[in-house]
Amino acid sequence: MDEFQTQAFIQHKFAEYYSQNSGSIHPPTSMDTREFAFSLFKQKIMLRHKGFKEAGGFQGFLKELSPADVYYSSAYYESPEEEMSRKGWLGADLIFDIDADHIPTPCDRSHDIWTCKDCNFSGRTAKPERCPQCGGQKFSGISWPCGICLESAKRETTKLIEILEEDFGFSKQELIVAFSGHRGYHVQVEVESVKTLDSMARREIADYLTGIGLEPTLHGLNMKACVGPSLEDVGWKGRIAKGTYELLASQEELEKAGLSKMSAAITSQRKEIQDRWSKKGPWGLVIGVGTEGWERIVQVAAESQSVKIDTVVTADVHRLIRLANTIHGETGLKKVRISPDNLEQFDPFKSAVAFKQGSVTINIAEAPEFRIEGVNYGPFKNQRVELPMAASMFLLCKGVAKVLEE
Ligand SMILES: [Zn+2]
Ligand SMILES: [Zn+2]
Repeated sequence: MDEFQTQAFIQHKFAEYYSQNSGSIHPPTSMDTREFAFSLFKQKIMLRHKGFKEAGGFQGFLKELSPADVYYSSAYYESPEEEMSRKGWLGADLIFDIDADHIPTPCDRSHDIWTCKDCNFSGRTAKPERCPQCGGQKFSGISWPCGICLESAKRETTKLIEILEEDFGFSKQELIVAFSGHRGYHVQVEVESVKTLDSMARREIADYLTGIGLEPTLHGLNMKACVGPSLEDVGWKGRIAKGTYELLASQEELEKAGLSKMSAAITSQRKEIQDRWSKKGPWGLVIGVGTEGWERIVQVAAESQSVKIDTVVTADVHRLIRLANTIHGETGLKKVRISPDNLEQFDPFKSAVAFKQGSVTINIAEAPEFRIEGVNYGPFKNQRVELPMAASMFLLCKGVAKVLEE
């Protein structure tokens, strides 16, 4: 089968999914004030500015269209079907996007493949600034939703939920948490008090979470007086203390942070450091670590406690977001909601699988190892294999395989 037939196969599977599951795809709250958008298979275009009054009409439309992606606006509008300038903005949910693309991960993204658009030179690891062969700056690429990347994204999401609860006072019931369907997680707040926040206010919230402009001396750190935040403190004070505590307790973390010079001094005084946390803390009191050393320690500690959200998404008051239980066109996985209490055990490669029946023979150009529904597959290179539908659809949607026969 050629490219077109692979496309038709994917589209047919999506249509099947929407015809069987449209009843479980719930429209967002206040649906009549939201803009809906769909990306289509055939034209590769975005169908925007759609509006719906009730669930039945929306679900019927989904069945008929069976799009590659389904989005709705985080914003509420008077007239969602009008063009942007005439929609009449009424407010927007507060949204946070955590994507592995913004997190340094232990796998170093060795699974990502990029190709230079000028000379076709390709490589692995994160995309370079310039092509090593021709110096070109345009690349096409595949970013891979790997298990390690997704675990890192999950850890950031856990941190985010903690800060939203502890520092902002949201309850767990007010936080809508979901797997994005690709390389990350979404957290959304729909309470009345956030709806009319403007872009500036949302940027402030993003800066607070990412620790941008954080000045430790304003959080109780005074090196001359050898005092600093304590582990019992709330907010960023306590977080700086916690990060410092964890950093000083781990030789490996110290070395990773480029503090190997001081690590011997710290290791030899570990017992005293531990004891001091119950009093005023070890601030300034470690022999062999000067003011500059402490500044670096606090900087690394704060960095470890900050949340790696995509700040552009949070500040955007017109953002389109994927609707839960619809399929991500690039993976064949669903966006799924998760109770914050179950986030720890959540496995996207089990819970987000949309295509569970049958198998299909495909030709795989190249794919790193992956795991779906508890089974490991790959790595593959120029191979013809028959795989269960979930694994095949994943590779087909990622664009690294073609359908051979059904
Ligand atoms: Zn090149
Ligand atoms: Zn990875």
